[in-house]
Amino acid sequence: MPSDSMSSESPDPVVTRFAPSPTGYLHLGNARTALLSFLAARKAGGRFILRVEDTDEARSTDEFMIALYADLKWLGIDWDEGPDIGGPHAPYRQQERRTLYDEWLSRLDAAGLTYPCFCTPTELNISRKRQLAAGQPPRYAGTCRNLTTEERAERLARGLPAALRFRVPEGQTVSFVDVVHGEQRFNTDDIGDFIIRRTDGSTAFFFSNAVDDALMGVTLVLRGDDHMTNTPRQILLLQALGLRIPRYAHVALLLGMDGAPLSKRHGDTSLRDLREHGYLPGALRNHLVRLGHSCVSDGWLDEAGLIADFDLTRLGRAAAKFDEAQLRHWQKETVAHLSTEEFLSWIAAELPPGLDAQQKAQFVSVARANIELPSDARAWANVIFGKLDAFEPTALAAIREAGEGFFTEALKLIGHPGAEFKQAVKALGQAAGKKGPALFMPLRAALTGFTHGPELAPMLALLPFAEVQARLEHARRLAV
Ligand code: GLU
Repeated sequence: MPSDSMSSESPDPVVTRFAPSPTGYLHLGNARTALLSFLAARKAGGRFILRVEDTDEARSTDEFMIALYADLKWLGIDWDEGPDIGGPHAPYRQQERRTLYDEWLSRLDAAGLTYPCFCTPTELNISRKRQLAAGQPPRYAGTCRNLTTEERAERLARGLPAALRFRVPEGQTVSFVDVVHGEQRFNTDDIGDFIIRRTDGSTAFFFSNAVDDALMGVTLVLRGDDHMTNTPRQILLLQALGLRIPRYAHVALLLGMDGAPLSKRHGDTSLRDLREHGYLPGALRNHLVRLGHSCVSDGWLDEAGLIADFDLTRLGRAAAKFDEAQLRHWQKETVAHLSTEEFLSWIAAELPPGLDAQQKAQFVSVARANIELPSDARAWANVIFGKLDAFEPTALAAIREAGEGFFTEALKLIGHPGAEFKQAVKALGQAAGKKGPALFMPLRAALTGFTHGPELAPMLALLPFAEVQARLEHARRLAV
């Protein structure tokens, strides 16, 4: 097993990178890849690079790029080199690296390893369909590979659009040891000459991505296993250019709970969606790090703990399913790890204006255990400092079940100034002939609108007496 830590035998520092295309908000699958790559570098005391792959000019926007920086930082990921901070391998946006790509392309040209391809999309499509119909894996048929110099010159003179293809060597095996999947072998005869420069002059992903990894000194490429079949092509390019080949770790794609690749129909799929929902970065980190990677610890890990627990040898092949129930679990844990100040500042916007420090402290001590998301804080702040505006259906049912007489009695025993709640409830139980849930549930329902929530007595201590009385009276009328 390769080791992910810097040892005396490995003089090269570990350099990893995250190379997103800014064509949308950061998808959870990419956030997971970014986190694992970041942890791999930090664990080894190496460097982590952010490279923006914005070659798709039509779909890449500055807005998405700026959102990307913000989302990564929010998740707790920082980088040692990147478009916003520069570094020894600048520039870090592929749009700004075109001259470099042209230089490296011309080396392949000079070595006779490229040729222009004039095939139209329609011709390529027909060829593809013919191969599929014959039960062959589709690959470029090599139509333009053996054009004569005159034939090429004639087509170029006619102004036909030309892509540039890489001449894949015949009859060879490309092999590499994937950190996750072990040894991989590919026959070059199955690969087919592939495009390295499109007809519009832009370099194709295979080329710019591989060349950049090599030029930026990346030693470990950690990415989704949808890239697995790209890797032999990239290795061939790097070999042809005499550039260093990194190690590869292809991690399982992120799936939804139904086993299909995580997509919009699963609900929130961008980091931003979940952030706006109120999830905390610590919750996302703790869930994402366990998707395709197993932790030694089952417990909540802070940032240092995540780095310490991460190990490349524990990247696994098992399907990685994004599970909102697990995210909820980590959210609860993360909230529990906030200091009172952090907790208060997290929920500040949900509290009514004008609360003094003591009211805030009381609210935290009463409601904190029942708050997983800021929206929960809003709901409990409303119960405690506001008016009841709605009843859960189960709460309404509990009120009706208890009946008018119960609340008439409750008003007498609880709804007067100075009533000591516990004793008053005991007396109510005796008077109404109820105990346990039959006694507490209708009271909770009447006083909070819910059948669950923080402990009742301390919560009521925060309510003005008139409000307690009004709520019991309202319940009495509801129960008629
Ligand atoms: N821009 C590519 C992507 O987002 C990068 C893949 C890689 O990590 O090599 O899929």
